[in-house]
Amino acid sequence: MGYLCEVHCPGCGYKQIFPLGCGRKDYKLKRIYSHFDLMDLWSVKVMALEKKSNYLTFRYRLGKCRDCGQLQAVPEVLFTDGTSFHGRTCDCNVKAEHEISLYEDREPIKLKCPKCGKKVTTQEKGMWD
Ligand SMILES: [Zn+2]
Ligand SMILES: [Zn+2]
Repeated sequence: MGYLCEVHCPGCGYKQIFPLGCGRKDYKLKRIYSHFDLMDLWSVKVMALEKKSNYLTFRYRLGKCRDCGQLQAVPEVLFTDGTSFHGRTCDCNVKAEHEISLYEDREPIKLKCPKCGKKVTTQEKGMWD
């Protein structure tokens, strides 16, 4: 099960809900691929095949595009040997790969508002999946 994380900025009113988490090991590969955008598809597939994908965990993490500062739910697969692979797409340039900073699940958020730069608050708003 994943949870919905609402990020809210008291400063400027920015509010956005992101579906995060999941953590399921039995997630179907096909469904995992569908969470990644085209740009990432091939490398995820190769990685999953090379590593015998039965032992992976799929989840979403809160991430920030380093190019435009936009927050987003970033798909990530974790393999049992500790390696991981996450999405690198962003709306600011759909044809490019982006550096994405990922935040730990439910860590006291060190996030800054993508609009005004002030501190934001986060709140769980329910479950998804
Ligand atoms: Zn703000
Ligand atoms: Zn971006």
